[in-house]
Amino acid sequence: MESNDAREGRTAGEAGWHASRYNLMAKVPGTRNVAIANLFKGTCAEYTPIETYLLSVIDELDENHPIIERLAKRGVICNFDERAALDTMGRAACSFGRGISLTICPTMGCNFDCPYCFEDHFAGRMSDEVQDDIVALAERMLDAASAKNIHVTWFGGEPLLAPDIIESLSGRLMALADGRGGTYDAGIITNGYLLTQEVAEMLGRCKVTEAQVTIDGLGATHDATRRLAGGGPTFERIVANLRGCKLPFSVLVRHNVREGNRHEVDKLQAFVERLAEESGNDISYYPAPVAASEVADERGEQVGLLCGSDASEIAVREEAGRFSRGRGHYCGAQSIWVIGIDERGNLQKCWEAVDKPALSFGTARDWDPSNPLETASNPDNLTRYLNTACPVPDDECRECVWLPMCTGGCPHKRLFSERKCVAFRDDPEAYVLALHARIGEKRQGAAAGTGKGTGDGNGSGVAEDGAGGDGSVE
Ligand code: SF4
Ligand code: SF4
Repeated sequence: MESNDAREGRTAGEAGWHASRYNLMAKVPGTRNVAIANLFKGTCAEYTPIETYLLSVIDELDENHPIIERLAKRGVICNFDERAALDTMGRAACSFGRGISLTICPTMGCNFDCPYCFEDHFAGRMSDEVQDDIVALAERMLDAASAKNIHVTWFGGEPLLAPDIIESLSGRLMALADGRGGTYDAGIITNGYLLTQEVAEMLGRCKVTEAQVTIDGLGATHDATRRLAGGGPTFERIVANLRGCKLPFSVLVRHNVREGNRHEVDKLQAFVERLAEESGNDISYYPAPVAASEVADERGEQVGLLCGSDASEIAVREEAGRFSRGRGHYCGAQSIWVIGIDERGNLQKCWEAVDKPALSFGTARDWDPSNPLETASNPDNLTRYLNTACPVPDDECRECVWLPMCTGGCPHKRLFSERKCVAFRDDPEAYVLALHARIGEKRQGAAAGTGKGTGDGNGSGVAEDGAGGDGSVE
């Protein structure tokens, strides 16, 4: 072992410190400072010219220089191999879980007919037998994971076409988690058309804490794509539901942004903010570029997709809103404890596969996670998703600065169409500045909420991101 004497006088470089390979920088307009986002640690902060200079010569500084601790805390410098750490995190994500997560489709039927929908709808409701199979599967998954917590996402089709199934299955799954001393919570993806006060209260009893409702623009703009099956507008009724009901859960309004409604992003955001204020409900907004859809292609109804700088700008807004530390995987499709179940009891790894029996890996009746391959009807449909986490099987991704947040992109697209890079891959400055703006908003919010400014707390001139502790803006 090295003696204290041997360590004296070492440079930071000799002690193993180096700049993170996952730093992105942008000059802060109107100042001499630079904003640095670290994608591995999920931090973003502002640095003065002297601090930026010290970062550039970090190798040569004394290892006890005070800047070392500050930069290391934000992940801007590190003394380990971050990519190797992502590889380990990716492998762990496949098998480690503190609970299980089930996306359940009580019906694949839908009362809407949206041209960009990726699903091939077929009617039909989940039978009592399939519900029994799901409860038994949840028990097997909890046993195999040595876990006790359950998270459910109600999906479809339109799940509110089958509220009775949501209510009865929720009761059984809540009892299962409760019996093991665990927690249960749920979310729902709904078009919002059937969200009456009675239904909202039922969802509240079923521990739904978050709903995602899509609104694609104001009035006629929304109605052009979010129309009833058989025709008919939906905007007024969805908005009336969100305004008139007292909702016991938060609502995330998703705006599917395409060419035809791109111009309404700011207006719709303002509309949603007013809706939240007027109703007293917890409603927030996020824009998401519409992806190409095979089903829409087949119907010849593909909506105008965003491309070029428009797609990049919307994607920056979307991604900056959910910045977090690198995890080594992209989504639940890469974890064995995250399962999608259609109304017939078929199991899938991905939301885009729920309507495609050919992509199912097994059934709720037969699949046993303690013997995951032998009980799968199609093991390839399980393993191919799991194997897309870090270490990502793609040399370009392994060298890419976006790897901690992108992890090679959506596994489903990688497997069945093409690798989906972040839309703003060649414009990192735009992303850093969007994160930086978010930090400003957070600091203002914190100052307004607590009656005191957050400050940077360390006297360094570094604008800490104000999220407490690790400097994450999440
Ligand atoms: S694989 Fe892609 S489409 Fe499927 S759940 Fe993950 S992110 Fe979504
Ligand atoms: S998919 Fe593209 S942006 Fe993402 S890590 Fe790979 S190369 Fe980078």
